[in-house]
Amino acid sequence: MKRLTFILTLAAVCSLQGVSAWGRLGHATVAYMAEQHLTEQARANLDKWLDGKSIVYYASWLDDYKPQMLVDLGYDPDGDDRMHQLPHTFSVDENGDVVPGNHWPGTKKYLANCIHYIEESAEMLKNHIAELDDSTRLARIQLIVHCVGDMHCPGHIRYPGNTTIGYYKVVLFGEEIRYHTIWDTNILQRPHPWSFSDLAWLLDRYTAEEQAEITSGTPYDWGRESAAASRCIYDVKAGDKLDNNFIKTYKPLAETQLAKAGYRLAAVLNAIFDK
Ligand SMILES: [Zn+2]
Repeated sequence: MKRLTFILTLAAVCSLQGVSAWGRLGHATVAYMAEQHLTEQARANLDKWLDGKSIVYYASWLDDYKPQMLVDLGYDPDGDDRMHQLPHTFSVDENGDVVPGNHWPGTKKYLANCIHYIEESAEMLKNHIAELDDSTRLARIQLIVHCVGDMHCPGHIRYPGNTTIGYYKVVLFGEEIRYHTIWDTNILQRPHPWSFSDLAWLLDRYTAEEQAEITSGTPYDWGRESAAASRCIYDVKAGDKLDNNFIKTYKPLAETQLAKAGYRLAAVLNAIFDK
């Protein structure tokens, strides 16, 4: 049985690295926007479980403590390390459907995708919250808040024949940069470096009907839709030189994905905590 565990070691803290997804600005924007759409009851329950802290406070927790958020894959007769970092990504197949797992780079392991853990956490919090210890309950809330953001980041989807998630170099405004990093941060910060609350306020403009449409379906449906919308980012190839035209072309995608993530995170949390 796969399970999440906290392992706190200094060595693990020192090895912090890897895929970061939306940077802090993006994750905080998604969480802040979601917070504005929590029902009164859901907000009250979250206040209780989070000791009055905002979900924004925990929005990047899974990136900040990535080595501590591990999935235990159980006994492995091949002798591989059985503990793996929780995936912040997902893959789609040739039909655009979310596949159950990601091949973990550099290992023979096949891990469940981030959407699997969102659904697993939602089920645990909705139906078994009284059985969870304090740290597990908190970790599961942090996981949902973070991974609903990540699954909407265009740089977090692996496609058949392209599992790079943008781990190649391009040139942005004359400086070499990993393409993935642009989708974490730069795309949101140019041309104007809004704060997370500014950005949430600016993006939270959808009608009630549009919000209902966005939040219909399941996280797997949302993954399929995100993958279809985001495939175009790979029209940018290694070595390409990017300027304001790139920002102007792709920023609407980043903003739409952030807004959808905000509404959907609220929907997931309301379904769990509004009872
Ligand atoms: Zn992440």
